[in-house]
Amino acid sequence: MSINIEKIRADFPILNQKVHGKDYVYLDNGATTQKPIQVIDAVSDFYRKTNSNIHRGVHFLSDQSTKAYEAVRKKVQNFINAEHEHEIIFTKGTTDSVNLVAFSFGEKFVDAGDEIIISAMEHHSNLVPWQMLCERKKAKLRILPFNKNGELELDKLPGLLNEKTTLLAVTHVSNSLGTINPIKDIIETAHKFNVPVLIDGAQSIQHEQINVQDLDCDFYVFSGHKIYAETGIGVLYGKEKYLKEMPPYQGGGDMVDHVTLEKTTYLDTPFRFEAGTANYVGAVSLGVAIDYINSVGFENIAKHEAELLKYATESLKKIEGLTIYGKAKNKTATISFLLDNIHHYDTGMILDKLGIAVRTGSHCTQPVMDFLDITGTVRASFAFYNTFDDVDRLVEGIKKVQDMFA
Ligand code: PLP
Repeated sequence: MSINIEKIRADFPILNQKVHGKDYVYLDNGATTQKPIQVIDAVSDFYRKTNSNIHRGVHFLSDQSTKAYEAVRKKVQNFINAEHEHEIIFTKGTTDSVNLVAFSFGEKFVDAGDEIIISAMEHHSNLVPWQMLCERKKAKLRILPFNKNGELELDKLPGLLNEKTTLLAVTHVSNSLGTINPIKDIIETAHKFNVPVLIDGAQSIQHEQINVQDLDCDFYVFSGHKIYAETGIGVLYGKEKYLKEMPPYQGGGDMVDHVTLEKTTYLDTPFRFEAGTANYVGAVSLGVAIDYINSVGFENIAKHEAELLKYATESLKKIEGLTIYGKAKNKTATISFLLDNIHHYDTGMILDKLGIAVRTGSHCTQPVMDFLDITGTVRASFAFYNTFDDVDRLVEGIKKVQDMFA
C-alpha cells in the first residue's frame, strides 16, 4: 500500500486555502503539524457532548470524560509499546516533560558533583532545564559534540560516562539539522555504565514507530501538537522503577492521597505527576491523532517522507549559491539551508509572500548555530501530506528570492 495523497490532503482543511493569493505550501512541520478534520471534529464533538472535569465527578459526563482521558493513556501505552499504563504521564508537551524529569529525577537522584550528559545539538528545551538543574544542585553538565556533517561524535561518549554520571539526555532527531541519532546504540553504551537515558522524541514520534521497550530508553518525551493533535498536551514515558522513586513536580488537586493542614500524602504514578485539571480534551485529540497516523501507517509515512527528502535534497543541491546545513547519512525530512549573501529572514519573508511557509532563525538551537558560525538558517520541514509539487514550489520560490537580490 502507498500513500493516497489526495485523500490525505482533503483531511487537512488548512492546507487547502490560499495565502497571499497563492496555493498554500506548508513546510513548517517541525514547528507544529496541521490537524486532520478527524481531530478538529473530535475536539468540537467533545465540547458539544462530553465535556466535564475528570477524575472527581460522580455524574455521567464526568465519568465519560474520565474514561475518554484514561483510554488515551492506554492508547499511548500501546502506541509506544510501554510495559505499563502508569508509565504514561500526560504533560503540556516536550518542554514540560523534560522540566518534570529535570526537577523530579534531579531532586531524587542528582547531588553536588554529579554529572549529566547532553549533546551539543539539543533544542533549548532539552538543554536549559539541565543547566538549571546543574546550577541548583551544583552538578556538572557535560556535552557530547557533533561534527560538521551534523552527526554526533559517538566515539567520545564512553569518555564522558563515569560513576558520577546520573543521566544522559539526547534528542532522537535534530530539529535544526535533521540528523537521526543512533539512540539505540547510545542507550546501550550508557546502560553499560548504569546511566539512564532520556530521549527527546519531539521530532521522531511523528515519523517512525517508537518502541520504548525495544529501545530500552528510561524516559521518552514528546508533544501532541507535533503529531497532528492539539497544542498543550504532551507525554512523558518513564520506566516504572524511576517514576516510583521520583517526588511530585507540582502540588495541587488530583495528585493527592490524603491532605491535612499539616501534611499531604501523594498518589502513585501517573497521577502524582498530573497536578490540577489535566488537558483532557487535548488528550482526546491525541488519541484521535494516533488513530489517524495508524490508519495511514508508519511504513507509508516513512516511505513518502524519505522520497520527499531525496527529491528536495537533490533539487536544492542543484541551486547555485545554496548551502545545506546538516548532511548526516541518516536524516529526517528536514532541510536547513542558506542562500549566499541573503539573510535567512529575507528568504523566509519573500517565500511567505509566495505562499510558502518555512521557518527561519536559530530554531531554538543557538549552540548549533554558534558551532556552524551562522546566525540562523531557513528550514523546510516536511510531513506526509506534503507533495513533490510543494518541493517544486519551494525551488521556484528560492530562485525568485535569488533573482530579487541579484
Ligand atoms: N525538542 C525538540 C527536538 C523540538 O524540536 C522541540 C520543538 O520544536 C521541542 C523539544 C520543544 O517542544 P514543545 O515546544 O512542544 O515543548
